[in-house]
Amino acid sequence: MPTDAPEIIRAHRETGLFELKWPGESELFVRFFDVRCGCSCAVCVDEFTGELLLDPAKIPAEIAPAGLDLVGQYAIRIRWNDGHNTGLYTWERLQQLAHADR
Ligand SMILES: [Zn+2]
Repeated sequence: MPTDAPEIIRAHRETGLFELKWPGESELFVRFFDVRCGCSCAVCVDEFTGELLLDPAKIPAEIAPAGLDLVGQYAIRIRWNDGHNTGLYTWERLQQLAHADR
């Protein structure tokens, strides 16, 4: 069963955290940096081997979202301030990243 859309997605620039809240759950916070590192697009992860192609050391510490676009009912596309904009984050992926960050 697909993960439902969160009721809250908020980017807190002052703390560098996304706030996410799913119905019936408490808020989760996940660092912009960890979400950027968790990008699973074909540029960041080899789609055949699953090997991480992204070097987290190359991600600027001041990484932040420049914009968020809703993709259908199942994901968002995050436009990052490092120019990377090919990553889709499904609700399930965001939930995984947020739980991993606790
Ligand atoms: Zn990517």
